[in-house]
Amino acid sequence: MQIADNAVVAIHYTLTDDAGTTLDTSRERNEPLAYLHGHGNIIPGLESALVGKQAGDKLNVTVAPEEGYGERHDALIQTVPREAFEGVDEVLPGMQFQAQTDAGPRLFTITEVEGDNVTVDGNHPLAGATLHFDVEITEVREASAEELSHGHVHGPDGHQH
Ligand code: ZN
Repeated sequence: MQIADNAVVAIHYTLTDDAGTTLDTSRERNEPLAYLHGHGNIIPGLESALVGKQAGDKLNVTVAPEEGYGERHDALIQTVPREAFEGVDEVLPGMQFQAQTDAGPRLFTITEVEGDNVTVDGNHPLAGATLHFDVEITEVREASAEELSHGHVHGPDGHQH
């Protein structure tokens, strides 16, 4: 069967950046990634490239930032006082936390701590990056009614609940 909306798709993938550095790979986890096609489970640029493909197909997909994790926005990089992290014993670079913004909840990463000043970055770590996917489609099947109503895949490769 061909990949179309409401198909459950399992893929092995390796994601690299422009320099060829591997950022993420399903091969390390042995299990492929399973997702429900047409429900925004994966980034738009990868999802649209998979339409019409079938199990056994291999492809390379290059995804521009606007079809991936978006452009970087300098306005999402802010310096806030240490006191903003009330109740946190240690404020260290690399820590992530969720904060309310005008556009809803957003994940921020602490990028720098200098004295009382803490720099936080609300950009996705892959914002602004061109993404290169090496994909192998391992399975395509019909979704169950329950999977469709939940908008995600159940089973060994998907949600357990
Ligand atoms: Zn579910």
